[in-house]
Amino acid sequence: MADKRAFAQFDVGYLDNPKIQEILDAGPYAVLMHAASILYCAQHLTDGKVASGHMQRKVGGTAADTKVLIDKGLWHLPGHDCEHCPDPEEGKVYVHDYTEHNRTSDGVKRASQAGKRAAAGRWNKDQDDAKGNAQRMRGASKPHSAPQCAEDEIAMPREKERERETTEAKASVPRKRAKRIPEDFAITETMRAWGRENTPTVDGPQETVKFINYWQAKAGRDATKLDWVATWRNWMLNAKERQSGNKPNATENARSILQMGRDLQEGALFDGSGTNQPAISQGSFGG
Ligand SMILES: [Zn+2]
Repeated sequence: MADKRAFAQFDVGYLDNPKIQEILDAGPYAVLMHAASILYCAQHLTDGKVASGHMQRKVGGTAADTKVLIDKGLWHLPGHDCEHCPDPEEGKVYVHDYTEHNRTSDGVKRASQAGKRAAAGRWNKDQDDAKGNAQRMRGASKPHSAPQCAEDEIAMPREKERERETTEAKASVPRKRAKRIPEDFAITETMRAWGRENTPTVDGPQETVKFINYWQAKAGRDATKLDWVATWRNWMLNAKERQSGNKPNATENARSILQMGRDLQEGALFDGSGTNQPAISQGSFGG
């Protein structure tokens, strides 16, 4: 079950949190046990459920430390009254607000499946099944939208702030600096829909793998783009043209010229190196 890339989220202010400070005063082992429980749940994808005795043994804590964590509301016993957290099964505790800050097992599975689909699926297969990949990958760990209980919060408001900033930055792509292709570049549902509409005959996943390989292997400023999705769309249009023997019909021609115009407006085709070489010309290296 252990995933070498598994991670848990800790607020950088974790040890300065007033509640954690109180517990530190009472005894550091309880804090260690709390941290251990978060790490354990993240490693084993237990969705916040953990055996308190296991955590005691792991760090050398005692039943008294467990009681401190329960009294302070950081761990919940079955039948607890925190309205944000589900009940653990008998014999376990639930780490307060765990899924608010960390990945659920479902979310991890879905993200992994979405990645596989992007590599192996085809445009017209699994349409319904694939719906909403991108949102799920991003929003997987948000099981409820209730406001957090502020006084109980061992939370990471800054983490959320950063998430929001990232999302907003993505919404205003043209202002961004040219960057190399993101390591996690993958077909989102929006891209899939665009592909079905504009390049239905192209094997999207296979072309996307070529696209990623090409740009990952390429060095220098030519390999930085302002908008990788726009670059990808151009690649797909080129792939379609190659299929039809480099003789796109008038409609296709008009459409790709229209698309180029749109991309130019978005500032997507230029890589910022001053050569004004449209990215669309790069596509012919891909196949
Ligand atoms: Zn709770």
